[in-house]
Amino acid sequence: MRRRELTAAGVAWDAWRAVRGGPPAIAARRAARLDAVVRHARRASPFYAEHYRALPDGPVDLVRLPPVRKPGLMARFDDWVTDPAVTRTGVEAFVGDPGRVGEDFLGRYVVFTTSGSTAEPALLVQDPRAVAVMTGLTYARSAGVLPPRLLLRVLARGARQAAVFAPGGHYLSATMFERRLRARPVRRRWARYFSVLDPLPQLVAQLDEFQPVLLGTYASALGVLADEQEAGRLHISPLVISSGGEALTPTVRRRAERVFGAVVVDTYNASEATPLSLPCRRGRMHVNADWFVVEPVDAEGAPVPDGQRSETVLVTNLANHVQPIIRYELGDSVVVGAEPCPCGSPLPTITAEGRTDEILRIPGADDAEVALLPMAVATVVEETPGVRGYQVVQTAPATLALRLDVDPGARRDEVGQRARDRLDEYLRTQGAAPGVAIELADDPPRPHPRSGKLRHVLRSLPPSPLG
Ligand SMILES: [Zn+2]
Repeated sequence: MRRRELTAAGVAWDAWRAVRGGPPAIAARRAARLDAVVRHARRASPFYAEHYRALPDGPVDLVRLPPVRKPGLMARFDDWVTDPAVTRTGVEAFVGDPGRVGEDFLGRYVVFTTSGSTAEPALLVQDPRAVAVMTGLTYARSAGVLPPRLLLRVLARGARQAAVFAPGGHYLSATMFERRLRARPVRRRWARYFSVLDPLPQLVAQLDEFQPVLLGTYASALGVLADEQEAGRLHISPLVISSGGEALTPTVRRRAERVFGAVVVDTYNASEATPLSLPCRRGRMHVNADWFVVEPVDAEGAPVPDGQRSETVLVTNLANHVQPIIRYELGDSVVVGAEPCPCGSPLPTITAEGRTDEILRIPGADDAEVALLPMAVATVVEETPGVRGYQVVQTAPATLALRLDVDPGARRDEVGQRARDRLDEYLRTQGAAPGVAIELADDPPRPHPRSGKLRHVLRSLPPSPLG
C-alpha cells in the first residue's frame, strides 16, 4: 500500500475544500481518518491492541471505543507509541536537554511536554503527518481572521513577532516557535521568544526595545503587561495580540484592547491535539472537526448535548499515528455551540473553561453541591476596583482563600474586603451554603514555578480520608 507523505500545503488545500464542502465533506474526512488511526493503533500499539481486544475487527463506532486517560497511557508509554524506536527513556533524555528545544527527535518527530501545572507532565510525540496538519490548518484557517487592511498594516510594520511564554522547556509554544527559527534562521530578526519568568522590569525593557507588532502570551501575563503600559513603563503598540494557555476573561480582553489599541485573539488548544481549534473573524473558536473529534461528556462519560456545559471532554487526534490519542480525556469543561457561527463556517464552535483553572465544588444551601465556574469566579474578583492580581484557592470543602495583589496606592485590607463582599454575594446567587468562608490570605498570588502560568482558581484540598 502506497501512502503519500502529507504536506502542509496539501493539508491547507484539503482544509479549504472541507469547509467549502460543508458538514458532509467534514464528516466523510473524519470517518476515513478515524478508521485509519484506529486500525493503525490496533495493529502497531500494544497498548491499544489490548485496550480494544474485546471489540470486533473492522470499522468500529467511535462511541464504542473505551476512553483513555493520561496516567494510564504514560505508565505504558513504550506500548502506547507505534514506533519501537520511540521509548520513554529516549524521549525523557531528549526533553531533559533545554538546548534541544526545536530539534526533531530521531530526526523525524516533534516532541512536546506539558508543564504539569495541574498533573504529571505528558510526553507527546508528533509524526510528520501531524506536524503537516498543524502547519497546514493554521495557514488555511487563520488567514481570514484579520481584516485585510489590518493584515497589510501588520506586514507594513515588518510583522515583528514576540512570544512571551515559559522558557527552557519543550512546551508546544516554545518548540514550534524555535523549530520555525531553526528552519530559517533569518526569521530571528523579526521573531523573538521572551521568558515570562524574567523579572518584570527586564521583560518590559526587552519588549520596549523589540517593539513587536504581533504579541503572543498567557492571559495573566497580558494583564500584567497592560498594567505596565498603563503605568507608562511599557511603550509598545502591537496590532494583534493572541492569548493562550489560560482562560482569557472578558475584563482582561477589554483592557488589553483599550490599553494597547490592538485586536486581541483568544485561542483554545491542547498539546495532545493541536490546533484543536482556531479563532474566526467573529472571535469565536472553531473546532478543526476534520482532524480532531471533540466529545463533551458528563461525569459518567455520557454525551452532553451541544449548547450545554460538559464535565470533561474526550478528544481524538486523527492526524497523529505515532502516539494515538483516541477518546483521550482532556479534563476541560467545554461548551460546543448549538447555533452556527455568524461567520458562516460549518466547523462547530467551542468555548472552554481552560485547563489550568478548576471548577470549585462547595456545599450548597440545600445539601446539594454547588459547582462554581472558574471563569465566573475570576471575573467577580478581577472586576473589583483595586485588584491587580489574584488567586482563589479552595483550601477546605467550605473555605476559599483569596490571594491578592493590589494597585499601587490602594489599601490591601479595603480591596480585600470589597473582593470578599463581591465573592460572597456571588456565592449566594449560586446557592452556596451560608457557612462557606472566604479568607484573605497573607501570601500573594503564586504562578507555577516552571511554566509561569498563573492559575486563578484552583483547589488545594487536603486528601480525603476516604481516598
Ligand atoms: Zn466563526
